[in-house]
Amino acid sequence: MIQYPRRHFMIDLETMGLKPTSAIVSIGCTFFNQTEILDQFHQPITLQSCLDAGLTQDQSTVEWWSRQSVDARSSWDNENAVDLNEGLLRFVHFLRLHSSEKTCCPWGNGSDFDIVLLVNAFDKIGADAPWKFYNHHCFRTMKNVFQVGDVPRTGTYHSAIDDAITQTKHLHRILNTYSIQLT
Ligand SMILES: [Mg+2]
Repeated sequence: MIQYPRRHFMIDLETMGLKPTSAIVSIGCTFFNQTEILDQFHQPITLQSCLDAGLTQDQSTVEWWSRQSVDARSSWDNENAVDLNEGLLRFVHFLRLHSSEKTCCPWGNGSDFDIVLLVNAFDKIGADAPWKFYNHHCFRTMKNVFQVGDVPRTGTYHSAIDDAITQTKHLHRILNTYSIQLT
């Protein structure tokens, strides 16, 4: 049985591929309600620790990253990066500041991307996902079904936290424009 109120988190990952097994080099996440971003989390993760844990990288994505801005790359390739275990631990800590396992609603950009990669990464370190599968939410579906035009961009493209903030603001515009109540 779902416990209310649900707690909503917009997640964006920077990764080394598009497969469910892909290495996660950065986690960006906002905690938000109907109208506001209430807290945010950003954690770079070392690529080597992902590969050591058995996550994968796609050559095409590695090459794609080499063509992105220095700001985008340095949003995860920096001295704050921790290993995968520690990064996921910190992420769970952030979620648990604001939610329980049953009230936690993660939003990903695509029904088959961010959340699926995270569930796989948790599995690789021997942990369960910190939410119930029935609370998975898809921002991309909302964006495509409820059109609101161009939404102003926040920060750097492909910085996980800036992408998560921009997605949250886009969702807020959808909720406001179409009078949708977040439950
Ligand atoms: Mg991104």
